[in-house]
Amino acid sequence: MELEHIKSAVSGYIDKEAPSLWSLSLELHRHPEVAFQEKRASAAVARYLEERGFGIEMGVADLPTAFRAKRTAKGASKPVVSFMAEYDALPGLGHACGHNVIAMASAGAGAALANTVGPETGGVQVLGTPAEEGGGGKVIMAKKGFFRRIDANMMMHPSGETRAMVNFLALAELRFCFYGKASHASAAPEKGINALDGVLAAFNVISALRQHLPPGDKVHGVITEGGEAPNIIPEKAAAWFYVRSETEKGLEDILQRVINCARGAARSTGTRVRVDKNPITYAPMRVNGELASLFRRNLESLGIFEPDPLPPLAMGSSDVGNASQNVPTIHPEIQMVSPDTSAHTRAFAEAAGGTAGKRTLFLGAKALAMTGVDILLDKKARDRVKQEFRIEGRRPASRPRTAEK
Ligand SMILES: [Zn+2]
Ligand SMILES: [Zn+2]
Repeated sequence: MELEHIKSAVSGYIDKEAPSLWSLSLELHRHPEVAFQEKRASAAVARYLEERGFGIEMGVADLPTAFRAKRTAKGASKPVVSFMAEYDALPGLGHACGHNVIAMASAGAGAALANTVGPETGGVQVLGTPAEEGGGGKVIMAKKGFFRRIDANMMMHPSGETRAMVNFLALAELRFCFYGKASHASAAPEKGINALDGVLAAFNVISALRQHLPPGDKVHGVITEGGEAPNIIPEKAAAWFYVRSETEKGLEDILQRVINCARGAARSTGTRVRVDKNPITYAPMRVNGELASLFRRNLESLGIFEPDPLPPLAMGSSDVGNASQNVPTIHPEIQMVSPDTSAHTRAFAEAAGGTAGKRTLFLGAKALAMTGVDILLDKKARDRVKQEFRIEGRRPASRPRTAEK
């Protein structure tokens, strides 16, 4: 009974805060900033939290647009709930992934929880996590230990569907640069070495490899450089690939096989290849069904139900995967647009700055804050979440799915 009482108090706090939450979200929407450029957004979200009693550290993890906002618990053994605020936009498209909604849903949830449940019960934190859309802010923050000693780590993403449990694939990026020798393509082709042939051969063997990949493993690429003119044998050509797998071990395997394809292609075409692997690798999502069901029940109490059975969606990757390897984490989605509208479109950006975005923000903030109440006050729920985290760490990746990067 006490739990329900506190949950209605956090929900009431968010109703009271609704005008400031939405106006800040709109401010972010009107001034979109891309990965690692989110100066204005990170400052605005941090200021909102500072004004509501949080201690702020700006520029944490050596990332100028990351921050940590903390309301410390009284007592070292007290539980801690953390929310992740994403606020980067997409180049050319603005807030077409709705991170303006995410930022204020997390900030609102943090403020509501910290101002309703006292420090003697637990700690509340909001992490400003930049560059989800490329750059992997959370990968860097996870490496620097920002996802530690947290009992539940949460955020909500607007989407075309509502789903409490969302999975992500591990992701690595490879760039191949093939080098040959320029020559006149008609007058002296025998004197040239065609770098584009290296790229094309690589695409072909990678296509052949695809048939033999385990389910869940994916490779997709584009040609970023393919020569200058048809009458010149290309001396340089390049391709860029994303490689994905359900597990970190699977990712290592597939990476090696794709690199071998490029090296084989170079050998067979007489070209040289330089392989560059992006050091930022996205980990797979370590899902937490217990934490997701707490969130689902809170969302249901707000009148939002997940469709059942869930239609499968293509799975993407997110840097939240790296956070999820360290602490119990969820990345639920709340429907903001129709199922046929994908993120990263103009229609999605428009919804994120309109009535649908506003509704999603308040629902998300409330369900997140209420789940925070469960974690801070219900020891049994907290233990179930912790227990599943331990077990999930020993198991290969599991089912539910969504799309991000
Ligand atoms: Zn996105
Ligand atoms: Zn996103």
